[in-house]
Amino acid sequence: INRNPGEVEFHQAVHEVTESLLDFIEDNPKYKNAKILERMSEAERIIIFRVPWVDDKGNIQVNRGYRVEMNSAIGPYKGGLRFHPTVNLGILKFLAFEQVFKNSLTTLPMGGGKGGSDFDPKQKTDGEVMRFCQSFMTELSKHIGPNTDVPAGDIGVGGREIGFLFGQYKRLRNEFTGVLTGKGREWGGSLIRPEATGYGNVYFAEEMLKTQNDNFKGKIVSISGSGNVAQFTAEKIIELGGKVVTLSDSSGFIYDADGIDEEKLKFVMRLKNIKRGRIEEYAKKFGVEYHPNERPWKIKCDVALPSATQNEINKEEAELLIKNGCICVSEGANMPSTPEAIEVYLKNKILFGPGKAANAGGVSVSGLEMSQNSLRLSWTREEVDAQLKRIMQDIHTTCVKYGKNKDGFVNYMDGANIGGFVKVAEAMLAQGLV
Ligand code: NDP
Repeated sequence: INRNPGEVEFHQAVHEVTESLLDFIEDNPKYKNAKILERMSEAERIIIFRVPWVDDKGNIQVNRGYRVEMNSAIGPYKGGLRFHPTVNLGILKFLAFEQVFKNSLTTLPMGGGKGGSDFDPKQKTDGEVMRFCQSFMTELSKHIGPNTDVPAGDIGVGGREIGFLFGQYKRLRNEFTGVLTGKGREWGGSLIRPEATGYGNVYFAEEMLKTQNDNFKGKIVSISGSGNVAQFTAEKIIELGGKVVTLSDSSGFIYDADGIDEEKLKFVMRLKNIKRGRIEEYAKKFGVEYHPNERPWKIKCDVALPSATQNEINKEEAELLIKNGCICVSEGANMPSTPEAIEVYLKNKILFGPGKAANAGGVSVSGLEMSQNSLRLSWTREEVDAQLKRIMQDIHTTCVKYGKNKDGFVNYMDGANIGGFVKVAEAMLAQGLV
């Protein structure tokens, strides 16, 4: 805490992992003696840089850019870029730390990193976003590469931003390589990458439900967010026969008791991805309830799939979910539940899929995109979807292996933390004091 003052989200993430690992490390002194967890909690390298750019009015703007290269024991640094006004070093360190465990769980050879900027793409024109991305990449290009560090999208960084970033990298380096994932289909992207995090979370939740001989058919599902992850989570739930009743953005949430069907979801995708509008417009269009400045967890549901941002479910909301009959929370977002909310889930023994396991589908398909780029091949939609499903099933199996208690209850959080740790720890031991 003294070395990382004020980085509350980073402290929270390290604390959660340490709690899961304490007994395991005591039982395996080789990890303790080599101070593996202490080393994993210190980034290998952090780059912080100035991002100057010119807005449409000709005014000079200045933002701050970051890349946290957390751990490269099992592969090149890999993790998204976040453009959001709340971005700071502590948030990116928490995300990079989580990413190390998540990437290890995917079974693919990827280290962990994360980056971004306090730039806010909202209300900016395409030209402004492009100039910002070009300036950001002018510095970042000195530190990344297809075998070194391969960034991707995250909050505020979708297909448009990845395109501008990739174009600038190509121009500066005069090479066409898989240096970013989440690229467009026509220029090296993988099929299913946009869908992967949402679909993957649903596949993971399906595996958890299976352990109770249950499935999504007829389930009432509450989703937060309305961005990339939320949209494709909703799409898969609808396909599996569940009823999605909520979506949100940072201004509020909508409650559609009849369920969001395919047509209504198309409206959301157009609204968010093309018009870049607010979710409130859904309520106006379909005549449903809109709750400004609120989160959707007071609505009765069977399954909750938080897919917006960190710390978006607190203790009281977790208690409300359970009181209303929720049997499963599976995290599409990174660390959406506070530690107190997680305590409530575990105490009540509901199915709880932590983000680093449940939302690993996105980075998994990014890993598959890297493989396709290296091979200069593209796999079909069916091939990639089948691999994604298999990876999510494997992650579930790993969580059960390391997280099953004597009474049969599976603590997926412990399972994910220990399962993700072992592979990285073994690689670090083998590579000496690095
Ligand atoms: P998007 O930018 O596409 O969407 C984010 C959504 O969350 C928007 O609806 C946004 O609303 C809302 N949101 C963002 N910040 C806040 C906030 N502070 N309070 C309330 N709502 C907020 O991002 P993604 O869908 O890609 O990411 C969502 C989550 O999933 C993040 O936690 C991300 O780290 C995680 N994730 C994403 C992966 C991916 O492949 N994209 C992979 C793994 C995890 P608004 O438009 O108003 O800002």
